[in-house]
Amino acid sequence: MPIETIFDTMEYGTAPEDRSVALQWIANHGGLIGPYVNGAFAPARDDLTIRNPATGEKLAGMTLCTKDEVTEAVQSARAAQPDWQKAGGAARARVLYALARLMQKHARLLAVMESLDNGKPIRESRDIDIPLAIRHFYHHAGHAQLMPSALADRVALGVCGQIIPWNFPLLMLAWKIAPALAMGNTVVLKPAEYTPMTAMIFADICSQAGVPPGVVNIVTGDGSTGAALVDATVDKIAFTGSTSVGRQIQEATAGSGKSLTLELGGKSPYIVFDDADIDSAVEGLVDAIWFNQGQVCCAGSRLLIHEAIADDFHNRLKARMDKLRIGDPLDKSIDVGAIVDPIQLQQIQALVQANTAGQTYHAQTPVPEGCFYPPTLITGLHPADTLMQEEIFGPVLVSTTFRTPAEAVEIANNSKYGLAATLWTENINLALEIAPKLVAGVVWVNATNLFDAAAGFGGTRESGFGREGGWEGLQAYSKPRQPLPEPAQVTPFTGQGAAADDIDRTAKLFIGGKQARPDGGYSQAIFGPKGQLLGHAPIANRKDIRNAVQAQLACGWGKTTGHLRAQILYYLAENLAAQTNRFAERLDAMTGSTTGAEEVRAAVDVLFTYAAWADKFEGRAKSVPMRAVALAMREPVGTIAALCSDQHPLLGLVTPMAAALCTGNSITLCASAPFPLAATDFSHILEASDVPAGVVNILTGPQADLAPHLGAHMGLDTVWCLSGAELTQEVQARASSNIKRVWQGAAQDDHDSWLDAGTEIKTIWIPYGE
Ligand code: NDP
Repeated sequence: MPIETIFDTMEYGTAPEDRSVALQWIANHGGLIGPYVNGAFAPARDDLTIRNPATGEKLAGMTLCTKDEVTEAVQSARAAQPDWQKAGGAARARVLYALARLMQKHARLLAVMESLDNGKPIRESRDIDIPLAIRHFYHHAGHAQLMPSALADRVALGVCGQIIPWNFPLLMLAWKIAPALAMGNTVVLKPAEYTPMTAMIFADICSQAGVPPGVVNIVTGDGSTGAALVDATVDKIAFTGSTSVGRQIQEATAGSGKSLTLELGGKSPYIVFDDADIDSAVEGLVDAIWFNQGQVCCAGSRLLIHEAIADDFHNRLKARMDKLRIGDPLDKSIDVGAIVDPIQLQQIQALVQANTAGQTYHAQTPVPEGCFYPPTLITGLHPADTLMQEEIFGPVLVSTTFRTPAEAVEIANNSKYGLAATLWTENINLALEIAPKLVAGVVWVNATNLFDAAAGFGGTRESGFGREGGWEGLQAYSKPRQPLPEPAQVTPFTGQGAAADDIDRTAKLFIGGKQARPDGGYSQAIFGPKGQLLGHAPIANRKDIRNAVQAQLACGWGKTTGHLRAQILYYLAENLAAQTNRFAERLDAMTGSTTGAEEVRAAVDVLFTYAAWADKFEGRAKSVPMRAVALAMREPVGTIAALCSDQHPLLGLVTPMAAALCTGNSITLCASAPFPLAATDFSHILEASDVPAGVVNILTGPQADLAPHLGAHMGLDTVWCLSGAELTQEVQARASSNIKRVWQGAAQDDHDSWLDAGTEIKTIWIPYGE
C-alpha cells in the first residue's frame, strides 16, 4: 500500500511482541511451577491450569496450596522475620534496590508474561504495570533506608499475609511486598488463581537479588488457599479484591488481633463539566474505562456529564469507541485485550443483558472470538439504576447527566463505594472546590488513572480502608515501638443505696446538644468505694445510639476550619480548668483515688494539645515523577464512636473526644460504665463551650450492650475500642456491615497515632503544563 494511502486511511497492521521469552521461562521450569517457600520453589503439582485468556492455551500448571502448605510458608516467614528486622533499614534497602534493578532487567519478560497470563494489552503491561511495579521497589528501598531516622518510633508488624487479585498481578504484588519488606516484615503472598505467573518470576528474582530465605513466600491456589492464609498465624492481612470477599475477611479476622487493610471495589464517577476540554475528556475516558478492559477497581465507570454537552460528548465518545482496536494482547497496536477468564466474561455479559434501562451502544469494531467484549456505553440511566450502582468490572461505561455542580457532587457520592473520582473542567477554582467534596480516596483533575509509589491509594466506605504507597502506606506495615497494654477491667463498686443527700441525682445522656432521657428510661445507681450512692447514670440502648449518630451526621463539623476547631477546644479547656475542683472531687469519690486533680489537669492539657494541633496536622504535596502535583489532603474519617476506657474516667473520655474534634470528626462517647459520672458532668462543659449540637454525644450504661450496635451501625465510619480486647472483638465481628474501621487506641502521648486515626488521606492529582 502506498504511503499516501496509509496516511489517508490511517490503517495500520499488526505489531506482535515476541512471546518466546516468556514461554522459555515456563519451559525452563518444566511447565510446572511450585509455590515459593523458604527461598526455593517447592515441588509442584498440576492442580491448577493457568491459561492465556486470549487463546485458551495452557501456560503452566501450579499447585493448589493446602492449609498445611500455607502453614509451612507462614512458619518460614516467621522464622525469617527477626533477622530481617534486625538487619536494619540500610541492609533492607540494598535488597529492595536489587529487586528493582533485577525487575528492570527482566522488564520485557515480566511484561510479556503479564499480557499472556492476564490478557491485558502489551502496551499497558510494558508501559504502565511493570514500570510502576519497579518504581514501587525503588521508592520503598528509600523508605527502608530512612526508617531508622524518619520512623524511629515504629517497628515491623511481623508476618504479613497478602492476597491480591488478577487485574494488576505484578503491580499489586509490588504494592503489597515493597512496603512490607521495607518496614522489616516478612510476607506470604497469594496471587490470584487466574494470574500467578509474574509472581513466580518475581520469586525467581528474589532468589537472584539475595532476598534471605523465608522473607518472601508465594503460595499459589484459589480462594481456599486465601482463606487458609487469613486463618494462619500471621500478624496482618492485606487484601485487594472484591468487597464481598473483603467483608468475609473482616469477619474472619475479628478478634484475632491481626491488623487489616482492605482495598475493595469501586464505581468511580467521571464528572465532565460543561466548560471541559471535551476531546481531552473523551480521551481520558478511554483510559478510565477501557484501560485493562475496565477490570480496574478505580475505573471511571460512571460518567456524569453536564446536560448541556451530553449529546455532543456521547457522539464524540462513540466515534472514539469505534476506533478502539480489540484483539491479541501481544499486538502492540491493540487498545483493548482479552477479559481475564470466561467466567468474568459471563459476569459482564449477564449484568449488561439483565439491564433494561437506558440505551446500550457497543463499539462498532471487530471483536475476535473468545474471551473478548466490546467497549460498551449505556446512556440515559438514572442514578439508582442497578448498573449505576453495581461494579461491572468490564469495559462497560454507564452514563447519566447533571445540571449543577452541587447535583454532580450529590450523584457522584450516591454510592456505597468511595474509591476514586475524576473531574474535568477548565475552571481550576471549580475543580478545587469539588475535589474535597467527593467521597473518594483519590481524585484526578483533568486526568485519570495516575498512580505513583509516592502517592497514597485507597478508599473509603465499602471500597475499604488503609492506604498503599507513600508515607501513609507505611502506617499499614508498622506499629508503635511500645505496645499498648491491655486496659485492666474494673468492677463497679456496690452499695446499699444510701444517698449522700436527699436530692435525686439522675444524670441524662447528652445527644444532639441536649440533655436527653435514655430511650429505655432506665438508669443505674453508681456507688463509691465505701458503698455510698453517688448518683444515677442513664442506661443507653440501640435507639440512643441511633439518635446520637443521626445528630452526628447532621452536625457539619467536618466543614469547619482548623482555626475554629482550635478555638472551641481551647474554650473547652478553659471551662474544664475552671471546674477543676468539682471534677477532681467527683473522680476521687467515684474511684477512691486521690489523683482526681491530676487527672483533670491532664485532661485540660490534652484539650490544649489538640487545640494546638487543630490547624497544624497538615497534608503533603507529593513528589511524583510526572508533570503533576499529588496533594495528600488529610480528611476526617467521619462519624466516630468510642468505647472509653475505665482507667481514667475523665481523661479517657476527653482524649478521644479532643483527637476526634481536632481532626474534624464528630464523636459519640460511650463513657466508662463503672465510673460514668465524670462524663455526665462533662456534658455541662460541652453545653457551655459553643460545641455545636451533635458534634459530641455522651452515652452511659454497660458498654457490652452498646458495642454490638456500634459495630453494626451503618452510619458510623469508625469505632475506637479503647476499653479492651473483648469488646473490640464484639465490634469487629459486626464491623463488616459497612466495612467500618476499628481502632484500638494508642498511648496517651502518642499524638500522631491519635491524629492519624482521626484522618484519612485523600490524594488529589492535578497535572500541569500545556
Ligand atoms: P476476589 O475478591 O474473589 O479475589 C481476590 C483474591 O482473593 C484472589 O486472590 C482470590 O483467590 C482470593 N480469595 C477468594 N476468596 C477468598 C476467601 N474466601 N478468602 C481469602 N481469599 C480469597 O475477586 P475475583 O478475582 O473473584 O473477582 C470477583 C469480582 O471482584 C470481580 O468481578 C470484580 O467485580 C471484583 N474485583 C475487584 C478488584 C478490586 O481491585 N477492587 C480486583 C478483582 C476483582 P482466587 O483468585 O484464587 O479465587
